[in-house]
Amino acid sequence: MGAQLIDGKAYAQAVRTRVGLRVRELVAETGQTPGLAVVLVGHDPASEIYVRSKGKQAVEAGMASFEHRLPADTSAETLLGVIAQLNEDKNVHGILVQLPLPAHLDARAVINAISPQKDVDGFHISNVGMVGTGQDAIVPCTPLGCMMMLRTLHDDFRGKTALVIGHSNVVGKPMARLLLNADCTVMVAHKSSTNIPELARMADIIVAAAGVPGLVKADWIKPDATVIDVGINRIPAPDLGPDKTRITGDVDFDNARSVAGAITPVPGGVGPMTIACLLANTLSAFCHLLGLPERPISLEHQEPT
Ligand code: NAD
Repeated sequence: MGAQLIDGKAYAQAVRTRVGLRVRELVAETGQTPGLAVVLVGHDPASEIYVRSKGKQAVEAGMASFEHRLPADTSAETLLGVIAQLNEDKNVHGILVQLPLPAHLDARAVINAISPQKDVDGFHISNVGMVGTGQDAIVPCTPLGCMMMLRTLHDDFRGKTALVIGHSNVVGKPMARLLLNADCTVMVAHKSSTNIPELARMADIIVAAAGVPGLVKADWIKPDATVIDVGINRIPAPDLGPDKTRITGDVDFDNARSVAGAITPVPGGVGPMTIACLLANTLSAFCHLLGLPERPISLEHQEPT
């Protein structure tokens, strides 16, 4: 029997709808509008697309969107000045600096200059530390989206074993921490791990975030395991024509789907959830900054529309 397809587009739509409804209620109640500021330094084409998409979806959710586009040779002082202004700006509740930054800028220092309460990417050291110690904090968007989808399939992570492949600060480490916080037994593999197939075969849940196309083979997967494919890899697609490419994940999807119990496709899996979770984080930051008691959309159970 084929695996259940985890439809990230539908989950993302459900999150966006909930965020949008709540934003409209809160605007009516408070007279204030949640605002998301995105800072882009330079002209990286992929970053330009992400920034446009984030701004567009924020506006669709009823939020205010502020874009700050700075030239590639912007000095650290200028960028930190922009962040300081945004930290003070009462109309801005979420601040995101699009990564990667040009090489002359220290991304860590820049991220840590963002007010932790407005750090909707969840990369500030204070949010990282709080998530790492199981406290309520802003959670990075991609692992948050993965966790929301996993929660629809697993009511309880206790007694379950997960393998996270990849240990970046953006995906792998926060993903492992979230699973650990839910009392899952967690293994983390990375490029220096030598026994990933054996580890994978023990896992009820695999989260692949290595950036290696087709890394996870069908015979690595325990029958009925849940497979979350975070990878976004552009590979040549000669079948589509000369110089054509396609996006593929870190899992050998065509073969893995006959073994897994549930699996995310690429595209259409984790990707759409990431921006939806950014909106959810912006709404949470807004509520927190206004002293509203709720953190409206977090790691709770989500149903797709
Ligand atoms: P990264 O390059 O920062 O980290 C890659 C991680 O994978 C590292 O920990 C590395 O040790 C590990 N790794 C590399 N090769 C490996 C191998 N052969 N076996 C095991 N581990 C290996 O990347 P990242 O930012 O964590 O992103 C990972 C992937 O997820 C990329 O394809 C990226 O495009 C994608 N991504 C997707 C989303 C989304 O919204 N869907 C968001 C962020 C990243």
